[in-house]
Amino acid sequence: TLALTANTSPLLYSYSARRLRRGIPSSRMNALAATSRNFKQAAKLLGLDSKLEKSLLIPFREIKVECTIPKDDGTLASYVGFRVQHDNARGPMKGGIRYHHEVDPDEVNALAQLMTWKTAVANIPYGGAKGGIGCSPGDLSISELERLTRVFTQKIHDLIGIHTDVPAPDMGTNAQTMAWILDEYSKFHGYSPAVVTGKPVDLGGSLGRDAATGRGVLFATEALLAEHGKGIAGQRFVIQGFGNVGSWAAQLITEAGGKVIAISDVTGAVKNSNGIDIAKLMKHSAENRGIKGFDGGDAVDPTSLLTEECDVLIPAALGGVINKDNADGIKAKYIIEAANHPTDPEADEILAKKGVLILPDILANSGGVTVSYFEWVQNIQGFMWDEEKVNRELKTYMTRAFRDTKEMCRSHHCDLRMGAFTLGVNRVARATVLRGWEA
Ligand code: GLU
Repeated sequence: TLALTANTSPLLYSYSARRLRRGIPSSRMNALAATSRNFKQAAKLLGLDSKLEKSLLIPFREIKVECTIPKDDGTLASYVGFRVQHDNARGPMKGGIRYHHEVDPDEVNALAQLMTWKTAVANIPYGGAKGGIGCSPGDLSISELERLTRVFTQKIHDLIGIHTDVPAPDMGTNAQTMAWILDEYSKFHGYSPAVVTGKPVDLGGSLGRDAATGRGVLFATEALLAEHGKGIAGQRFVIQGFGNVGSWAAQLITEAGGKVIAISDVTGAVKNSNGIDIAKLMKHSAENRGIKGFDGGDAVDPTSLLTEECDVLIPAALGGVINKDNADGIKAKYIIEAANHPTDPEADEILAKKGVLILPDILANSGGVTVSYFEWVQNIQGFMWDEEKVNRELKTYMTRAFRDTKEMCRSHHCDLRMGAFTLGVNRVARATVLRGWEA
């Protein structure tokens, strides 16, 4: 896997090596290697020249900062924070900030690259970026998380901005995290709500942003199923992940008549072939900090969740979970990638042979960043939309992204992942050439 690592930075290289030494399972590909492999395949389908291909792959800027904070017990603790700004040919760079113990530079780099293609697929005027801090947010108190977020913001405030790079929530972060970033940033630059999206509504956040990724997943799934003469109603869904994305997807799918028959989070997994009562599970999960112990179904092994019998499988948690070790055991007819890079390219090949259709991440989960764009637009205009308008516009953007992707599938004779990648990469390539950057 090391040889496949596409980045050239010594900093990133050393992290990959360390990760391998730590014994991260070899069945899961390195995230950057996997993403870059998909990009290169798309570049080949598009016939991009090698110089342009190289310039599109190399990130614009990679930031690594040390964040030291006093813990509640008075001791000091240090955490490493990253922001990778991948590309800005189409507009300000955009992407979430993740707090997770597995955050490493290769992964942040891969996720930043995916944001570049994702914003282009969604056809919103942004480039791509991603940030992260290597920490276990569940082990930190609220005030420790606030101090960590403020120190991180102090270190990067000069490199983000309304027209340069606009952060948002991701795994382990939420609207409160964005409020702290906004407040800290404003101490240096004056009050600037549009510098982050996914903020609390009281600070200029958009109505509908919290549900947006899950709602976008619903719209994208509807578009895919409609092509096969099917609707959400009557389909059996299995969902991995019950965070912001998984829980909203589960609720909205249930409202649309779909049956969620198995669902998992980091604490456990539950199965009920009659359909899980999602409202009850939400309540249980809020009160018990997870799914574990829920009595509305049978407790099952979370590792076997992905291979459960179902119609639609929705990975909505970590990357690389569908890999060469488990791909053959997957029984779903459709996979909707609500998570970022849940499927390794090696698994893609196995699943294609089995006839499983995959709706790729950069299309399926683009609802979050699309409503982030609506939030930024509302902040800049100083005008607030009602939720109905947000959801209606989101549906228009998701449906158009699906239609444009299918068009690329037809003209390049490729699957949905390559359809979305060629669509995104082509739009960024055109902007790059028009700006005269390829020379
Ligand atoms: N973190 C989300 C994603 O991966 C949203 C990013 C954003 O809204 O900027 O797409």
